[in-house]
Amino acid sequence: MPSTRRQFLATSSIALGATAPGLCTSDAPNPTRPLIVSTWPFGKASNDEALRVLTKGGSILDAVEHGIKVTELDTKNRSVGISGSPNAAGVVQQDACIMHGPGHQAGSVAAIEGIIHPISAARRVMEKTPHVMLVGDGARMFAIEEGLKSIDVDSSKLHEAWRKERASKKQAVQKRSKGDHDTIALLVLGSDGNIAGGCSTSGWGGKLPGRVGDSPIIGSGLYIDNEVGAAGATGLGENVMRHCASFMVVDFMRQGLHPQEACLRAIHRISRIDPLATEDLAINFVALDKKGRYGAAGTGTGFKYSVTTKSSSVVLQSPGVTSKDIGPEGGNRK
Ligand code: ASP
Repeated sequence: MPSTRRQFLATSSIALGATAPGLCTSDAPNPTRPLIVSTWPFGKASNDEALRVLTKGGSILDAVEHGIKVTELDTKNRSVGISGSPNAAGVVQQDACIMHGPGHQAGSVAAIEGIIHPISAARRVMEKTPHVMLVGDGARMFAIEEGLKSIDVDSSKLHEAWRKERASKKQAVQKRSKGDHDTIALLVLGSDGNIAGGCSTSGWGGKLPGRVGDSPIIGSGLYIDNEVGAAGATGLGENVMRHCASFMVVDFMRQGLHPQEACLRAIHRISRIDPLATEDLAINFVALDKKGRYGAAGTGTGFKYSVTTKSSSVVLQSPGVTSKDIGPEGGNRK
């Protein structure tokens, strides 16, 4: 085994040592089920709701939808839901998706306006249409026809005003600041071993109208392989989309890697391919596998994520990856 690879695995197993009580990150003879993993500390409230739904006999899809709805409704959250960050024209355009492991079904909505629960719209797309993705006005119209809660938005005037202002001032697109993001990506491993997951976000604050991030793109912001596990992403969507990153994380798990090693490995691989410095990629992943193991990793100093089982609901710190860690084989240079 090349030394870089050996060192990478050694680094990973140190990170794997950060196990919360009652939770299982090692090889699990008795899988921890149900298991819910989501991005960021605000994911914890969503996890708790997802667990409540499962405990009451709800399905894994119900758990994902109702869990994510908690964050979408949180008016203090400026990155998910209708109270999220507006685009350059001052309009909140949201992205969301959902996936159901059994049957490998998926649904998503992108650049949708004025819908209180984009995650529910994504689920309806999956369950009630022959399509996977609806965008913009079509997605909004569909959601309203489905009876989902909406608010009146007359974004055409805002968009028009922005277009005029932009044409006159040659206004540049706002650069994304470090705190100007966050997505809820929530993964559920059910008691029967089936997996579901979802994502919801208002995306990059100040983005160009019509910009779609990674979150509603299956394989980028979310991916589930019911035989293996699930992964979800948060961070700078453009850098996730260019690498089909959630698919990559799941594929590493398919090759036998622990979820945390898979997240780290994906960041290492992306960092080697991408011209951007690792820290500037601003990408973060959560993952869980069929065995009831979970993990996460992020660029820079890492990020916080939430993990919930019947016996514990905690916020954990993921390991981080910096440019110094990147070697030619995805290993640690040191
Ligand atoms: N990934 C999302 C996007 O780029 C937002 C985030 O998670 O920060 O739209």
